[in-house]
Amino acid sequence: MLQCVVKLTVLQRYHMIWEELDSELAELKTAGLQRVRRITDSPCCVEFKTNKRTLLSFCSNDYLGLAAEPALIEAARTAASRWGVGSGSSHLVGGHLAPHEEIEQNLATFTGSARTLYFSTGYMANLGVVPALVGRGDAVFSDRLNHASLIDAAQLSRADHLRYPHNDMVALERQLAGSSARRKLILTDAVFSMDGDLAPLAQLLELAERFDAWLVVDDAHGFGVLGPQGRGSLAHMGITLSAYPRIIYIGTLGKAAGVSGAFVAGAANVIEWLMQRARTYIFTTASSPIVAATLIKSLELIEQGDARRRHLQELIAQLHAGLHNTRWQLMSSPTPIQPILIGENEAALHCAAALAEQGILVPAIRPPTVPKGTARLRITLSAAHSHDQLDQLITALRQLQ
Ligand SMILES: *Cc1c(COP(=O)(O)O)cnc(C)c1O
Repeated sequence: MLQCVVKLTVLQRYHMIWEELDSELAELKTAGLQRVRRITDSPCCVEFKTNKRTLLSFCSNDYLGLAAEPALIEAARTAASRWGVGSGSSHLVGGHLAPHEEIEQNLATFTGSARTLYFSTGYMANLGVVPALVGRGDAVFSDRLNHASLIDAAQLSRADHLRYPHNDMVALERQLAGSSARRKLILTDAVFSMDGDLAPLAQLLELAERFDAWLVVDDAHGFGVLGPQGRGSLAHMGITLSAYPRIIYIGTLGKAAGVSGAFVAGAANVIEWLMQRARTYIFTTASSPIVAATLIKSLELIEQGDARRRHLQELIAQLHAGLHNTRWQLMSSPTPIQPILIGENEAALHCAAALAEQGILVPAIRPPTVPKGTARLRITLSAAHSHDQLDQLITALRQLQ
């Protein structure tokens, strides 16, 4: 009886705690910020079948067209028979199967690093690495346009978090010079995920050397795409990982590699430390051995993938030529991420909807993913696109002018 009375008083005074969400959800909708998922009824990635129709997609990160590659499907099938489907426990407890070990070794050879550590996702790799290296009393310096997972990683570390304007090396130098933090860590995307441009890695490295800081490079969009044989952004800029033990290189394996997971590459003692201390490595079940075994094959295809990368470069050139002298302003990007800056959320949504009406899928990217007032159409190209398919997009955009 007493309980009943208490409940009623609370009810009269307040909304239930979850009812607030209804008005917040309604606000998202009014602001054009509500996200919806499309259910896809076919494998990734160029032609999406929904229950109603087929859409030509320019929104995947499957840059090399490996996500539904028959050789990888076969590798996954074989791996399931040989290794089963689950790893059963975390890596340090007993879930570190032979394919996990092999992919780490192959990735070390491929990136020219002493050793690598394989994580279940890129998000987890970032959340694991930064707090393992810096903490209270230390400082993280990060580019303002860094991926959300890097921002979260810096916050989780409890280090001071200083953000410098995008690629502004003068501002970064000033921040480093003014810091009395015990340990410093510079954190950057190698290829910025919403703009497609590159970080000035050589200058970042020079600053890291001068101020004795770690340099953590997240190459989610460069690994497999840039550099000789797709060895990534550092290789693209002629930086040899093994020569700089202060560089920690993170590559993800769900984008160009077409599967899922991520790895951290670096000096042997750094990787050993991460294995001992990175909580997102230690306190989680090792990913399926099928994934690791499939990645072994995927890495071979990346290494032999010059033809795929050449085709991708041709597509980038075709898009730029096709939109030349139109109102569509491509941002300056040498990568398969080719955004068109629009500005307002509603305008970006309107363009995306107009393309979708013609059966073409290009996502409208809005805040909080990008800064306010810079909503954009984010076109991503894949080696799986044909020149004809890209022509369909170019034609549709020209008609929308
Ligand atoms: C996609 C992405 C990640 C996250 O990787 P997942 O493997 O998808 O978790 C991290 N950093 C950047 C820059 C990304 O684009």
